[in-house]
Amino acid sequence: MTTRSVSVLGSTGSIGCNTLDVIRHFSEHDEFEIVALTGGNNVKLLARQAVEFGAAIAVTVHEHKYGELKSALAGTGIETAAGATALLEAAGRPADWVMAGIVGIAGLAPTLEAARNGATIALANKECLVSGGKFFLDRCNRTGAKILPVDSEHNAIFQVFEERNREAIERVVLTASGGPFRDWPLEKMALADTQAAANHPNWSMGLKISIDSATMFNKALEMIEARHMFAIAPNQIEVIVHPQSVVHSMVGYADGSVLAQLGCPDMRTAIGYALSWPQRRHVPVERLDLAAIARLDFAAPDETRFPALRLAREAMAADGLMPAVMNSAKEAALDAFIERKIGFLDIARLVEKAMKRISGHNPPTSLEDIVEADKEARQFVGGALETI
Ligand code: NAD
Ligand code: MG
Repeated sequence: MTTRSVSVLGSTGSIGCNTLDVIRHFSEHDEFEIVALTGGNNVKLLARQAVEFGAAIAVTVHEHKYGELKSALAGTGIETAAGATALLEAAGRPADWVMAGIVGIAGLAPTLEAARNGATIALANKECLVSGGKFFLDRCNRTGAKILPVDSEHNAIFQVFEERNREAIERVVLTASGGPFRDWPLEKMALADTQAAANHPNWSMGLKISIDSATMFNKALEMIEARHMFAIAPNQIEVIVHPQSVVHSMVGYADGSVLAQLGCPDMRTAIGYALSWPQRRHVPVERLDLAAIARLDFAAPDETRFPALRLAREAMAADGLMPAVMNSAKEAALDAFIERKIGFLDIARLVEKAMKRISGHNPPTSLEDIVEADKEARQFVGGALETI
């Protein structure tokens, strides 16, 4: 039995907990050595995880949480640390496999640190590719860090993407559940609160990605993620609404074949795949029962109610740092919505305004370029909140 060293960045989140659950299951057959576990405010859970999995180090990004973490792990021999620099240091510790499960652009720098060592990166954090694009890929290529997609759509595409027949690939089709407001009229969407927006019909996920599904910015980010992950042109990327979330995405070929990956909506399938690749192993998820589901529905997305998809295409056409601006403006607007400062439809309005105002940047060549664009987009949104 070979021992594999593993770190989970964002271990206390939805992806992080699912990752540890798969590791728990696989540990019956295999040995994992847990290097770093990282989290934020939920220090109690982080400490519990560190003890259960015998982590070498547990890190919270919040310095004010250090005392709590340290006392929770006193006497265990597990190293503790807090703050952004400590997080980067822990993320950069040698490991064979690293789950990038931090939410938002905050996940970029730690994932880059993990890539420095040539670790296999299980990429749940889509913002690395959205905002970092080719720069992020180049950094991974430089060290031979292999990226395995965990986002369910990209994981599905990865499973049916015939690299040897790349020339014959015409399109990738990303499926979207349509979120909780799939059939809501605009007037009702305008009044939606955080609770309604976070109420995803099929997937159980973190708060922010759940609301991103309601605006369909999640799909917008995934279009850009797919572009880079699979080196395909923007006009080869389609989105189709599929309310059951059973078909996780598809690849269309020149002979008319469309290959799809199906499964119950449970992230542990994609995580188990990334942890087992290139093999497959047993994962304890519910089995798909198509007779019980009986029907699968598909519909074209409504871009009047969900302008995010159009904004993603505009960001890809503008290229450079525009996808980073789009994402950071979205993150700032989403925070404002969660804090009840703006309405649901204002999220897309603010993103569009930010994209109109901030333009003309070259593609990023450093992390600092992305950090600058992030700052600019957040400042713009902060200033525009009053006028919306
Ligand atoms: P989550 O909010 O449940 O968890 C986020 C994790 O990141 C937590 O451990 C939190 O402590 C940590 N974190 C938050 N802010 C941080 C910061 N500033 N610095 C360092 N750590 C921080 O999020 P999630 O739903 O697990 O999503 C994680 C990532 O995976 C996102 O990029 C999301 O888009 C992507 N993703 C998630 C799912 C899902 O099923 N949840 C599916 C596909 C993709
Ligand atoms: Mg997804």
